[in-house]
Amino acid sequence: MIVLMKHEAVEQDVQRVVERIEKLGFKANVSKGVERTVIGIIGDERFLNKDQISLLPNVENIIPILKPYKLASREFQPTDSVISVDGVLVGGSEIVIMAGPCSVESEEQMLESAEIVKKAGIKILRGGAFKPRTSPYSFQGMGKEGLKILEKTKRLTGLKIITEVMDTTEIELVAEYADILQVGARNMQNTKLLQNLGKIKKPVLLKRNYSATLAEFLLSAEYILSNGNDQVILCERGIRTFVEYTRNTLDLNIVPAIKLLSHLPIIVDPSHGTGRHDFIIPMSRAALAAGADGLIVEMHPKPEEATSDGEQSLKPEKLFQLMKEADLIANAIGRTLL
Ligand code: PEP
Ligand code: MN
Repeated sequence: MIVLMKHEAVEQDVQRVVERIEKLGFKANVSKGVERTVIGIIGDERFLNKDQISLLPNVENIIPILKPYKLASREFQPTDSVISVDGVLVGGSEIVIMAGPCSVESEEQMLESAEIVKKAGIKILRGGAFKPRTSPYSFQGMGKEGLKILEKTKRLTGLKIITEVMDTTEIELVAEYADILQVGARNMQNTKLLQNLGKIKKPVLLKRNYSATLAEFLLSAEYILSNGNDQVILCERGIRTFVEYTRNTLDLNIVPAIKLLSHLPIIVDPSHGTGRHDFIIPMSRAALAAGADGLIVEMHPKPEEATSDGEQSLKPEKLFQLMKEADLIANAIGRTLL
């Protein structure tokens, strides 16, 4: 359920509702919109006596949220969420591109990648230090040493950093270095990880698992939101289908579907979505045209030497081309490229 406050409600009215919700054994989640405040009631609604809230001063109405995901739904928050990544806004009118190699491999590789990314006009650099690989025999990432390289790269270039966190015990460590903590597709339903990411105050990029339905995807976001962190960015990165000519099938339908049902920003990963460097630009164009708030793209200074995902990494000159085309698409749909 959500409590819709009247336009004239003041802070004291909101506070009174919150206290009442908590006294009744529920959790309250306050969302202050431009127009008015709505308060989410979290808990088993069958045991809620609505009158004890609806009769409080300046309560307009109590509305049931029918969707299984509550805080993630547009019913709960009609206006788009805009997430600030240390000042870079994701989910507003600007389209935000994140790029960089799949894995952190060395200081030279990251510094070279960062220079290219910066030259392309991009503000957020990707690079995995903890890598969720399909095979235990594949490169597993540089771990803490990789995070230190990311820190130095950030210090020297001013770029924001997105990097993956795979384990609850490493959240604190990764959060020290990352501006966005990425949850990989394989961990989308790691509920302990999600709950604990709900307790930090940094943006989380939640990648869709390759077999997750839209409702499962949003319920995973709900785990983070309901634990107190409202800075969630969604990411479509391809799903499993019968199709074998690409690594995954990039489900761009989910972009307008998410926009309809949720206020959370959604970006698209055409690298993992296709598995092919030559498909990245066309599918990026399509993703932005479909309404995605941005892209996360793999780029490597020398893809042929990459320790992971070289075949789905753009060469530097192709990243520059992608930015030119993204700018054209952004203008065509009334947005701007950051
Ligand atoms: C990645 O971003 O390098 C990655 C492993 O992505 P995903 O979790 O989507 O497979
Ligand atoms: Mn990768």
